[in-house]
Amino acid sequence: MTLEPLTLPWLDQPLAQLLAQQRGHALILQGRFGDGLLALGWRLARAWLCESGGPRPCGQCGSCHLADQQAHPDLRPVLPETWQLALGLTAGDEGDADAKSSKRKPSKDIRVEQVRQAIDWSHTTSGRGRGKVLLLSPADAMNEVSANALLKTLEEPATGLRLLLCTEDAGQLLPTIRSRCQSWRLPSPDDAQVQTWLVQQGLNDTEELLRACQGQALSAWQAAQQGWRAEAWRDLPRQVARGDAQGLSALAPPDALRQLQQLCHDAMAVAVGGEPRYFDRRMLPATLRLEALVPWSRALAQAVRQQDHPWNAGLLIESLVLQGQTALSFGVPAGRAPTPRPATLRP
Ligand SMILES: [Zn+2]
Repeated sequence: MTLEPLTLPWLDQPLAQLLAQQRGHALILQGRFGDGLLALGWRLARAWLCESGGPRPCGQCGSCHLADQQAHPDLRPVLPETWQLALGLTAGDEGDADAKSSKRKPSKDIRVEQVRQAIDWSHTTSGRGRGKVLLLSPADAMNEVSANALLKTLEEPATGLRLLLCTEDAGQLLPTIRSRCQSWRLPSPDDAQVQTWLVQQGLNDTEELLRACQGQALSAWQAAQQGWRAEAWRDLPRQVARGDAQGLSALAPPDALRQLQQLCHDAMAVAVGGEPRYFDRRMLPATLRLEALVPWSRALAQAVRQQDHPWNAGLLIESLVLQGQTALSFGVPAGRAPTPRPATLRP
């Protein structure tokens, strides 16, 4: 498994630009992970270390091969454990005994131990003599202790060390970190380009898929791998309006919660006369009332905040669907009895 599992053609130009422009030793790459931000950081790191001398990274030289095998002595990705698991990477030598005993839940933070070990690593001799690259992603997953541990290295890096900090929101980084780095923003590819790419990956219903995933190519690809189906997506508002939680219960709880939040977002947008973002307008109830949707929205936000708590996921999703049923069925004229019942849906 590599940090760039797919070829994303819209990263070619940004990469060329970065290679031409970047001068400093520390760079914040800002953009959306669903557009391939991490893949860009990984490609840039490989390019800096590539030994071909030609268009980089060549994918052929010893350095590129080692990077592809996650075995490059001079390239160190530092990611939260949850990301390592999701990407199929092993924790490597920074995994501590505590984590390996599996008593502790995988951390969502970049832990201070990871940063300290990476700093120690940065002071050892470069294995292949082309300097070293430390890639932190998402950089905002550093808590304050981790970020402070990194500060001195940003100020006085070991000779030949480059730092890449990938983040969706540089505003989440400490100002002291930001002020020591150059910043660069990855533009999102246009929808037409992404749709062409999704079709090339053998996917169907790409327009709806992309819409459900906020136009983010990698998120769309991942959703498709996890069994996203256009018919189920189109049917979701109707299911919730019926109080039917069966389809959602089959999903991983975070995915089910996200879909309910997307539906609630769109229902609220329509209720105030706006346009839905994720669903086709025709799939949503004809009329909706904001005051009925607000409590549901709050309940969903609270459930998302408490995701890590050991609750019964099935029961929670069912209860949120029932609240959704109530919220969506308030599309009736004011004054009608607020009994939960299926909403009136457009055909
Ligand atoms: Zn190479």
